[in-house]
Amino acid sequence: MTAQAQEKGASAPVYAPSAEFAANAHVDAEKYAQMYETSVKDPEAFWREHGKRLDWIKPYTKVKNTNYSFGDVSIKWFEDGTLNVAANCIDRHLKDRADQTAIIFEPDNPEEDAQHITYAELHRRVCRMGNILEDMGVRKGDRVVLYMPMIPEAAYAMLACARIGAIHSIVFAGFSPDALGARVNGSDAKVVITADYAPRGGRETALKSNTDQALLHCKDSVKVLVVKRTGGQTTWIEGRDYDYNEMLLEADDYCPVAEMRAEDPLFVLYTSGSTGQPKGVVHTTGGYLVYAAMTHQYVFDYHDGDVFWCTADVGWVTGHSYIVYGPLANGATTLMFEGVPTYPDASRFWQVCEKHKVNQFYTAPTAIRALMAHGNEPVEKCDLSDLKLLGTVGEPINPEAWNWYNDVVGKGKCPIVDTWWQTETGGHLLTPLPGATALKPGSATKPFFGVQPVVLDPQTGEEITTTAAEGVLCLKDSWPGQMRTVWGDHDRFQSTYFEQYKGYYFSGDGCRRDADGDYWITGRVDDVINVSGHRMGTAEVESALVAHAKVAEAAVVGYPHDIKGQGIYAYVTLMNGIEPTDELRKELETWVRSEIGPIAKPDLLQWSPGLPKTRSGKIMRRILRKIAENDYGSLGDTSTLADPSVVDDLIENRMNKG
Ligand code: ATP
Ligand code: MG
Repeated sequence: MTAQAQEKGASAPVYAPSAEFAANAHVDAEKYAQMYETSVKDPEAFWREHGKRLDWIKPYTKVKNTNYSFGDVSIKWFEDGTLNVAANCIDRHLKDRADQTAIIFEPDNPEEDAQHITYAELHRRVCRMGNILEDMGVRKGDRVVLYMPMIPEAAYAMLACARIGAIHSIVFAGFSPDALGARVNGSDAKVVITADYAPRGGRETALKSNTDQALLHCKDSVKVLVVKRTGGQTTWIEGRDYDYNEMLLEADDYCPVAEMRAEDPLFVLYTSGSTGQPKGVVHTTGGYLVYAAMTHQYVFDYHDGDVFWCTADVGWVTGHSYIVYGPLANGATTLMFEGVPTYPDASRFWQVCEKHKVNQFYTAPTAIRALMAHGNEPVEKCDLSDLKLLGTVGEPINPEAWNWYNDVVGKGKCPIVDTWWQTETGGHLLTPLPGATALKPGSATKPFFGVQPVVLDPQTGEEITTTAAEGVLCLKDSWPGQMRTVWGDHDRFQSTYFEQYKGYYFSGDGCRRDADGDYWITGRVDDVINVSGHRMGTAEVESALVAHAKVAEAAVVGYPHDIKGQGIYAYVTLMNGIEPTDELRKELETWVRSEIGPIAKPDLLQWSPGLPKTRSGKIMRRILRKIAENDYGSLGDTSTLADPSVVDDLIENRMNKG
């Protein structure tokens, strides 16, 4: 975005879409306003029309049938229609796109060849995998767990399940055998699809051996399909383990599609576990695909022929909606990357962008901050001239990181879409549309079509109707991509999302709506800190800390304080090569004071070389809170942490020794 930034309202810089971008975009400001209005005034008519972007076997006549009343929550979209997700993501494109690349695969090791899989090849691969699963006894409605590296076979497996009507549940390949076993049992899966090893960042995870361990705690009838990735040694259990590469030789190239009802489950996926025990989110077939495809096209302004790269793992919802289902439903070219941003060095992301001429690039703030700590040189040595748009997801992006992303990566010419959404929402809910929305660094801006955000007073639960507002972010009314239930526990679904604020979907996040009606996520409602009666979102204080030139990352939590009620405990990671000193500690305290005010000054500040994060890069504040409270004996579920060892270091060096 260019520097036509102007100061506005509460001093946030505003970047209006360039006339050139707007002219070529699917949606400009005027069209957004008009489409948004119809989408909320007459959702029935709006979605009746937009549901047609899919090919239906039996067209729907009913569009929306949703009920948010606590005790009776039920969400159905397009309920009398039938379709198949794999047919929509593959078969219908064969007429015009058989030879177009559907998936570009970039392996962990840059020396290894990339693969370009055409739609015709994807069709063959998915059919064969579908036939293999059927040979193993998988039938419509059965659950299949995927525990896979980021290789094309992961996408084949997802689509093969969809093709034959099985329900997939992906477990991130970095998770432990215990986490895997719990999810196999949780969904009562018939088959686990895995690989021998998963290369990542130059190391290898022994997936097959982890699977063996996990299955010690599962039913004997569970079968394992093993894809060869490295060819490394594995143990083999005759009768239980099936060799994918061997079965491929026999498998037929055609597999018929199962006719699925719109409300048949497509997949189960567990939330990240940032705030507690992960929830098994259920998404269904019709509404989910309509929503994933539509948001992919409009939010990223995807045009035919573009190369789209979402850096997420398929074990996260972002990988489901924006590596596989959304892009492929749109006939796009989607890039799958097996590696990590910093291997072999901190310029890998940008080298991949250059090599594959990436047009839209979508990543997480945590990756941006990590790369920013390595300076500009790794970015500047790559040719990023094909980039048209950048995106972020997963956490609030602090303005400091936004500016770096905009200036250094986007060279001031790529709009940044800061997309707020959740596993539960299936697709983006609050997000700029790049040709329509004026951007503000750190704001997820405006609702997508059909989305009705409301800000509630946390105490009274009343809707705050003034434009400028601060409180709990909830959603009024449903959208097609919404989750339908918690797997096997509809009561938990109702009590988690619909009990606290009756008549609304409760997101669990806090937000501020500014005078322009733009939304700013302030952090989890559970993380709000109350210092001497002043309520503060964690995002705000963290953002101030990260704005300091020597700080790479920060996490802030409250802890019991005799006088203030709660004190502010800050965990700070410094930029590469910066020494932690007492002077710097004082400097940071003064800095936050001057950035926000005296009330926000950290009471305790701990130097933290690493922070506990989920696999999708989110800081687990509930663990930091326990450490800050000196209650580190009961950390809760840590099975979804990326690197559990950082926790020990934090405990050892905690500031609040009681
Ligand atoms: P759990 O629900 O198990 O605690 P989780 O909420 O971390 O885990 P996800 O569904 O992966 O699981 O994450 C959704 C959350 O991520 C949102 O509720 C929000 O807090 C945060 N988030 C995602 N995108 C953004 C964004 N663009 N800006 C701010 N926050 C975001
Ligand atoms: Mg959540």
